[in-house]
Amino acid sequence: MLILIDLDGTLIGTVHPTWQPYRDGQDGYSIEQYLGQVPILPGAREFIESRKAKGDKILVVSDSHFRYVNPICRMFGVDNVSLADKPNTAKLMEYLNTHADLKHELDDGNCVVIGDTKLDIELGRHIGAMTIWFLPYIITDDIRDERDGIGDEMASKKMGPTFSAKTFAEIETILEAPLSNLYTIEAAFVGQTSTRAIRLNNNRYADGSYALIRCLARQEQGACDKYGRADKYYMMSNPERTQDFLKTLATGISNYINQPAIVQRGWDYFTYLTDKRTTVPPTKMKELFDLVETPVQKVQLLKWDDNVQGSLREQNLYRDRQAFLQKYLSIECPGGTRVDLTGKNVIVLDDQYTTGATAWHVIRKLKEQGVKNVLFLAMFQMVLPVNDDVVCPRCGKPMQIKIRRSDGHRFYSCTPPEYRGNGCGYTLDMCD
Ligand SMILES: [Zn+2]
Repeated sequence: MLILIDLDGTLIGTVHPTWQPYRDGQDGYSIEQYLGQVPILPGAREFIESRKAKGDKILVVSDSHFRYVNPICRMFGVDNVSLADKPNTAKLMEYLNTHADLKHELDDGNCVVIGDTKLDIELGRHIGAMTIWFLPYIITDDIRDERDGIGDEMASKKMGPTFSAKTFAEIETILEAPLSNLYTIEAAFVGQTSTRAIRLNNNRYADGSYALIRCLARQEQGACDKYGRADKYYMMSNPERTQDFLKTLATGISNYINQPAIVQRGWDYFTYLTDKRTTVPPTKMKELFDLVETPVQKVQLLKWDDNVQGSLREQNLYRDRQAFLQKYLSIECPGGTRVDLTGKNVIVLDDQYTTGATAWHVIRKLKEQGVKNVLFLAMFQMVLPVNDDVVCPRCGKPMQIKIRRSDGHRFYSCTPPEYRGNGCGYTLDMCD
């Protein structure tokens, strides 16, 4: 396997601004004389030795200056690409194209990018590699850097890494068996069992109760992602979806809620975001909800108003989404029956997480009814698009990525005028 790994904040603890002039290779700031003081992160050296012994190839990919990167990488005994300008791929690809054995690993799909910022994840997605978002340090205000995305957890999560880890031991676990460490729904679709989820929020309340938000797969936009499941998100709304498809999806959900670490928390009810009167297919969520196997009692607690107009997707601003939810989504049991929610712990299933408006609305409504703990599960997290610059082989104009909504099939399109483009109509398949 080819391991492309970031340097600052990943192998060494040098994200603090005092290291900046060294990282930039400024005159008078030579790292050579301070090599012994470079703070190597716990387990970093052992990780490199262990992976080398297993036959992996390791390459450091860093935006820092070669005057700084070269001596440090010599210390670790690994090669590097410096001034890499992530997430641009040009410098990295130039290196790989002159190192056939490394390029070969990438082409065979045996490549992972490891790093602590969104730039590392974005780079990995551009080259079609798996990605591990690694956060081995505690984020403090003095290390935040908007430009480089240092210390911005949400930005890294929105970039949709394949995995996340906090220690090198955890990275080793992932590399030993990547498929069974995917998020539960992604794993289910490659025939594997996993218990992992994307951990978006852990909210604690003054009374000690909590609300957790988790996602079980990524719905990637733009270019393809090896294990991202945008195709399955679109399949949910396809009237021709099969029972096998729904069963696999349900298995991914069951695998998450039935794992000991979740069961131990003690849940009273399992509920879901019901279908609207206008939803296609009409039992889009209900059919799936019924297939999820769990000992937790299933109840219907949430209801969309019968007169709901339009969809949440049409409301672009968070504020508008909240107003929409306030108007149309409420706690209501079928036939007006009442379920006493006081002190109960509730798991909620939804199909998609975008801004979090639905999740927080539902959590607030449940808390108003006296619910104690909430686990909000969204099957798919919409992650940011990564777009490749592909030009039309017929006319040379830039092509756009289009998605066929019926089955999530993606293609590049040189969009012609009848679809409001200025291209020639040529299309190119992708994601094979
Ligand atoms: Zn064209």
